[in-house]
Amino acid sequence: MLENLTERLTKALRNLRGVGKLSEENMAEALAEVRQALLGADVHFKVVREFIERVKAESVGKEVLQSVTPGQQLVKIIHDELVNLLGGGATELSPIRPLKILMVGLHGSGKTTTSAKLAKLLKKRGMNPCLVACDVYRPAAIDQLEALGRQIDVKVYSDRGENSAVKIAKRFERQASEDGYDAVIFDTAGRLQIDEGLIKEIIDIKDLVNPAEVFLVADSALGQEAVNVAKHFNEAVSITGVVLTKLDGDARGGAALSIKTVSGAPIKFAGVGEKLDDLDVFHPDRMAQRILG
Ligand code: GDP
Repeated sequence: MLENLTERLTKALRNLRGVGKLSEENMAEALAEVRQALLGADVHFKVVREFIERVKAESVGKEVLQSVTPGQQLVKIIHDELVNLLGGGATELSPIRPLKILMVGLHGSGKTTTSAKLAKLLKKRGMNPCLVACDVYRPAAIDQLEALGRQIDVKVYSDRGENSAVKIAKRFERQASEDGYDAVIFDTAGRLQIDEGLIKEIIDIKDLVNPAEVFLVADSALGQEAVNVAKHFNEAVSITGVVLTKLDGDARGGAALSIKTVSGAPIKFAGVGEKLDDLDVFHPDRMAQRILG
């Protein structure tokens, strides 16, 4: 059976029990274990490097406590640092009304499903949301959003004859802004990879609707690619929050740390299943535990 990180660090720091302070030298073996654990959780290697530096800065010179093993002590420092990093920033939704939310992300990340999950959650919070189908490339995406809208009794705006997502958003803004919605969720198209045409389109939609929130929807199994995805979308449309999907799968979720580090945007929600109720507020402590394994 695989040893957990606490056991591995305890072993790596076995000679430290009851003596002195944590130092760069006496922690080297343990930090190598931490590095392996984070890489094993698919955190991007540059993010790992940065994180290890932070942990070093936090630990060097700390007295080794008598009450816990040095391994436990280091795990606590790492855990707290991870929670701190993952949890920094406001996780509440913008108070601006109507609350316009632009959903962006790669194809298959869970954007359409998450749009409907969010609409359901806002409805539960007493709001009156609607959904706008801006994925003009996949007719099935419009069908999917309409079917989801029916399930949760939320109006879906679509225009199958229109092949410009920007025009759909424009028409919605003209026609529906008087309809009394206090939340509007724009589901946009994704690609399997970042694509300049797609990026240009979401920039145009963003400029037009001026959303209070721009959510990057990212699959928790994205792995190393998470850094590029977060960087590109953030540079293009300044994301205000992240929804990490498919956390019910077995991904260790290192993507969470990579995305947060690169974009600085808080992870606001976690997708934990295919059903429309399977959206949780993000818990940094659970995520830290999962990454550390
Ligand atoms: P889009 O292409 O980004 O709009 O992705 P979809 O919303 O169509 O989702 C792609 C697939 O992922 C669908 O089969 C969804 O049911 C599934 N999915 C989305 N979110 C989750 C989640 O949190 N957990 C699981 N298990 N599946 C999800």
